Parts: sequence; C-alpha cells; structure tokens
Amino acid sequence: SLTGKNLHLSFGSNHVLRGIDLHVEKGTTASVIGPSGSGKSTLLRVMNRLIEPDQGDILLDGRSVLKDNPDELRQRIGMVFQQFNLFPHKTVVDNVSLALRKLRKLPAEQARAEALEQLDLVGLKHKADARPANLSGGQQQRVAIARALAMKPEVMFFDEATSALDPELVKGVLALMADLAKGGMTMVVVTHEMGFSRNVSDTVTFMDGGVVVESGPPEQIFTNPQTERLQGFLSDVL
Ligand code: ATP
Ligand code: MG
Repeated sequence: SLTGKNLHLSFGSNHVLRGIDLHVEKGTTASVIGPSGSGKSTLLRVMNRLIEPDQGDILLDGRSVLKDNPDELRQRIGMVFQQFNLFPHKTVVDNVSLALRKLRKLPAEQARAEALEQLDLVGLKHKADARPANLSGGQQQRVAIARALAMKPEVMFFDEATSALDPELVKGVLALMADLAKGGMTMVVVTHEMGFSRNVSDTVTFMDGGVVVESGPPEQIFTNPQTERLQGFLSDVL
C-alpha cells in the first residue's frame, strides 16, 4: 500500500497542499478528482518525491520513504503525464528500453527484449522501430505507459493521461488503464474522466483548495455526495 499522511506543501506564500491524506491499498486504484488548481498534480509530485513535502509522511508498505534516496522511490512508482515526454529522436523501443539500461542496468539485448514484451502488452510491438512523431497521440501515450511499466513499478501514477488526446483516442488509453487496474496494478489516477473514476477506481478522493473534501467508494461519491463543494463540482462536470 501507499499512503500520504498529512502532506503540506507551499510554493512561496501559496499553501497548495494543506494536510492531505491519501491511501491506496495494494492492487487497487484510487482516483483523484477536483477543480483546476486544487493541487492534484502537486500531490502526485510530492508522493513520488519530485518535490519534497514541507510536512507529513509518505509510507510505502507501511514504511516511511522520506529518508530514502528519492531516485529509489521514483523507480518504485511509475509515472505517466499528460504530455508523453517521449524522446523524439529515438525509436519507440529505444524510448522504452532506455531506462532499463540506465536505471536497471540491463544489457542492451535484454533491455530490448523486455521493452518489446512491454510494447506487446500495450499492443504496439509492430511500432517498435518507428519514431514517436509517426504515432498517434494515443499510441504515444501507450508507449509512455509501456515505458513506465517496463521498470516493474509497484505503483503507477497517472496525471490526466488522456487530457491531451483527441477524443477518439481517449477510449483506447482508458481501456489500457482499466486493464492494468483489473490486472491488480496499484494505481493513483488523477483524472477528469468521471466514467473512469466511477467505473474503474475502487476509491475516489475529491480535492479542492489543497484539502481532501470527500473520499470514499465511487457509489458514495457519485450518487450521494455529502458536501456542497462536491455537489457543485459534479454538477459542473457531469
Ligand atoms: P489542473 O487540474 O489544472 O491540472 P491541479 O489540481 O493539478 O490543476 P496543481 O498543478 O497541483 O493543480 O496546482 C496547484 C497550485 O499550485 C496552483 O495554484 C498552481 O499555480 C501552483 N503550482 C503548481 N506548480 C507550481 C510550481 N512549480 N511553482 C509554483 N506554483 C505552482
Ligand atoms: Mg494537474
């Protein structure tokens, strides 16, 4: 399991995370929803220690990771962003195998073999030698997911992974994410895809203004919101 406990973070005088608790059980998917600027991306960045929290703790399998080397944590948590951040001058398979060689120190042959295996899982083995620019946005995002999965992370973070995609490409990426969730991956998914949040995630956390306003199972969050803030948010987005 992964737990963020009483996390605080300020950018200058902007107190962005104001005591956030987020818990995801092993093998489950937690979705995080909320208005723009509520601190969702910042929360993910703090939880994989791209940014150090000002206060609070991060526990992986019950053990605090704040004293560990942050690079280690980032290898245990795969991250997929809105912008795929693929290297344009490298082939698809090289994009996936790069971290395997650099971080997991695999020899080139084995890194390529594992990368091809991951590409197969996301349905893109046939694009292995193409350049990212020759793939659709949805295919590029699936490559980015394969790249993250190749590191064999214990947890996957997705930050608006489908927001930059043309509408017709969103479905394929969401289906892949749903497959991962069903396959038992532990995931934290920041999304404004309410269908995914409702149908795929096990828990939903609604953030607003740097606090968790409500969290619970999707049935409760979507059919019986307790606060005016969540009621208002849902009536805007649904
Ligand atoms: P969105 O739905 O638009 O992606 P979000 O919920 O992910 O929004 P964040 O990106 O976490 O929101 O931003 C929360 C607040 O933190 C905003 O006020 C933003 O301006 C501020 N912020 C985020 N990143 C930085 C940064 N690197 N430096 C300064 N302020 C930042
Ligand atoms: Mg964001």
